[in-house]
Amino acid sequence: MNKILKSGKFKVFCLGLLFVFALLTLSACGDPKHTHSYIENWEVEKAATIFEDGILSRTCTDENCPDQNKGKETKPITALGKTNEVYDAFSDYADNLEKLENGVRLGQTVDSSDNSMYGAAINFALSYGDTDKIYELENGTTTISFTLDLTSFEENDYTVFSMSFRQNPDYVYVTENMFGILKTANGYTIAQINNTTFGNGDRDLILASSNKVEIEDADNILTFGYKLNFNSAATDFTDQLETKLVVNGEEKITFTMNYNPANTEAGISRIDGIGTLWNVTSNKDTAVFSNLVKE
Ligand SMILES: [Zn+2]
Repeated sequence: MNKILKSGKFKVFCLGLLFVFALLTLSACGDPKHTHSYIENWEVEKAATIFEDGILSRTCTDENCPDQNKGKETKPITALGKTNEVYDAFSDYADNLEKLENGVRLGQTVDSSDNSMYGAAINFALSYGDTDKIYELENGTTTISFTLDLTSFEENDYTVFSMSFRQNPDYVYVTENMFGILKTANGYTIAQINNTTFGNGDRDLILASSNKVEIEDADNILTFGYKLNFNSAATDFTDQLETKLVVNGEEKITFTMNYNPANTEAGISRIDGIGTLWNVTSNKDTAVFSNLVKE
């Protein structure tokens, strides 16, 4: 037998080791014989919102569970904007949306009286079911972005989006930042436009815009971000807010801010936050919207 194994020092060392293990086991589990039992169903501890993850939790159902925290386990609920549950956020003009595995097909509604076409809108709120609410902007930079799968688009197909800004307490519309996306031979024309025809006239508005860029895009899956730089202390929205359009991660357009004449007359010139994100119109109802996130 090895000399070391026979030595008294080694025996003391072994006993010490056992003691430490016993202590660790006791402190980790309280009762080393107890095994937590869980029912399968997780409970919603905090619901997910459009932008923020929620929390699911469960605890040990054994009433004699010795653990102070009842063996509590948690896991996140993915923010709804990142899942196809974003479908439920489109609360206005949403009759022709289709919920897909990875997003929402942006169907258009056709008004048969004049053949105008319009798509669905998201009313921004902290939780679902709250219409006519403002997503209040904090000072500094907030970027709200989304992904569009335009693989179904052919040359000259277009779609238009707009983000509107409103004033508390009555959710009064103040202004909006609207842009069009027009498929070209090699990519897309992206342009600020300030009006819509709810139809093919928007193609001409995009082409006539003085604030536009041409981009190339190989896979026809594009990410658009409204990068909002907000200063609540300013007295007029033209000083309060600077909006840039980020396309595939690059700042491409700085929006010029436009007054709504009716509001100017009424003296409404400040904004408090975002009202809606609207797929204003398109000649095609096959764009797929996904991954609505806030950074
Ligand atoms: Zn337990």
